[in-house]
Amino acid sequence: MASDNNKSLSPPIFPSVSYSTTPGDMGFSPETLSEQSPFFYSRWDNPTVRMLEQTIAKLEGAESAVCFASGMAAISGLFLSQLEQGDHLIVPTVCYPGVAELARDILPKFGIEVTSVDMSDIKLVQQAVTPRTKLLHLETPANPIWRLSDIEALTRLAKQHGFKVSADSTVATPLGTNPLSLGVDFVMHSLTKYMNGHGDALGGVVAGPHDDIAALRRDILVHFGAALSAFDAWLILRGIETLSERMEAHQRNAAMVAAFLEVHDNVLNVSYPGLPSHPQHALARRQMRLFSGMMSFVPKDPQKALDRVADRLKTISYAVSLGKAKSLMFYIPSEEIQATSFQMSEEEYLKYRDWAGDGIFRLSVGLEDPVLICADLDALLRA
Ligand SMILES: *Cc1c(COP(=O)(O)O)cnc(C)c1O
Repeated sequence: MASDNNKSLSPPIFPSVSYSTTPGDMGFSPETLSEQSPFFYSRWDNPTVRMLEQTIAKLEGAESAVCFASGMAAISGLFLSQLEQGDHLIVPTVCYPGVAELARDILPKFGIEVTSVDMSDIKLVQQAVTPRTKLLHLETPANPIWRLSDIEALTRLAKQHGFKVSADSTVATPLGTNPLSLGVDFVMHSLTKYMNGHGDALGGVVAGPHDDIAALRRDILVHFGAALSAFDAWLILRGIETLSERMEAHQRNAAMVAAFLEVHDNVLNVSYPGLPSHPQHALARRQMRLFSGMMSFVPKDPQKALDRVADRLKTISYAVSLGKAKSLMFYIPSEEIQATSFQMSEEEYLKYRDWAGDGIFRLSVGLEDPVLICADLDALLRA
């Protein structure tokens, strides 16, 4: 690559759409495409994107990885490559809303049956398995209440029944958990979040066994076309250079903010996997080397806190997304998310409300001085 001969310390960006080849170098069929193939067309493979794929494969201990234009493109691509008409997919009841909606509203149109279960309860998962179950998709910790899934227990169940497991590890990051080492078949990330870390590029990745990743590239990336741009791959590569330092700081700040919220007079509940009060803290300690920077809390009076957002936030921004250097916070009303994204059973919804009440504030703790983050929160919450 260009950096080999000019000694550049930063990776080069290759914007080229196509690459000069010679007749016979490669046919025009993606069938022959592999990681060893010469570059041909940037929707198939691009030198800057390939550097990012190799970096992520190394971080996850994977044979191979393929990038997409967003996290949703990566997840939907994986589902489309692994599932066909008549197959059964198991997803978590509470997870990234885009995934919940895709599984419930879109996949059944293609003849894929979907069951959503609370994956923190292995017995419920066992009950959901059918002879046609082909894939279980887990997310841990799961947005927005940071419920954990026991990856080893779920992969053991999968091996008994002969289905595959994919893990959305966006929040844990490869520094917190390596799901492949715990037995999953595929790990995926929204690169938009902690991996890039600066909130200025969208991206997604799936990592796993060489042959499956080659098929994902050949069948899905090439034909559905959600290729990651070289410029965004470059930004994400730059973000990954500081991933370790950023994650340490996110976790350090999050631990302070969670401790502050937990003893606040006007807070009912806090969920952060790093808190001993988290119902799955023991699992978090076993499965996560880092607890990351995501938490949610339930104020005694959510409406009062919401009314103060516009005037009182100085450090935290009120916005969606997560994993950015800047702190981000967003309110998720229980009724609304139940009506739109989750549509849980009555029993599941009551369990959710038990914890979340009328609504929760999801907080992505950034890299600012944690004293300033807590001051903002106190300004929203104090009497
Ligand atoms: C953001 C996110 C996604 C979707 O990623 P995009 O890059 O926004 O498409 C999927 N899973 C989790 C856990 C996320 O936080």
